[in-house]
Parts: sequence; structure tokens; C-alpha cells
Amino acid sequence: MDTNNNENNKDELKPDDLGTVAKNFIGAMSSWQKAGRPIVTKTVWNERLAICRGCEWWQEIAKTQIARCRKCGCSTAKLLLGTSVCPLNPPKWSNTH
Ligand code: SF4
Repeated sequence: MDTNNNENNKDELKPDDLGTVAKNFIGAMSSWQKAGRPIVTKTVWNERLAICRGCEWWQEIAKTQIARCRKCGCSTAKLLLGTSVCPLNPPKWSNTH
């Protein structure tokens, strides 16, 4: 049995975690607004996307072209915000502002 996989599944977002997803989203948008709504450069965006695509928490649904982080529930829009940071400890990528 893969205990690491079980550990990940324990933290996986489920439909009843929508409250947490909403709370994370509101917090992220509030921090972004307070910082003056900074957007990252295309280079940083590509770096973040490459890291996420190599992460076990990333999920892409080809049919709907929806992608998100299953750890925090955020979509690819999170990668655009200068105030965003990967939710892991330590984070795999950091904020720019
Ligand atoms: S934000 Fe962090 S935890 Fe989420 S998919 Fe990207 S690298 Fe993984």
C-alpha cells in the first residue's frame, strides 16, 4: 500500500470543502487588492505553471480545460497574482509582492 498516496488523499479537497475553497479565494483576493493588484510577468507565470504541472496536487481536466491546485482549491488565476504563494510548507513557489 502506498502510504504517501493515502496521506495526500486525506488532504484532498472534496465537494464539502467548498467553504474552505471560498475562504481561501476571498483571502487571496483581499491580499491582492491591498497590495495594489499586482500581476506577475509572463516569465514568472510560466515558471509557476511548470512547477504546478509537475506537482502531485495539480489537476488538469482536458475536456473542460479547467486546472486547479487540489491543495488550496485555487484555479490557474491564482498563478497570475503577485501576492499568491504555493500553500505547501515549504512552498514550491513564492509571492513576488
Ligand atoms: S500551488 Fe503548490 S501545491 Fe498547488 S499545485 Fe502548485 S506547486 Fe502544487
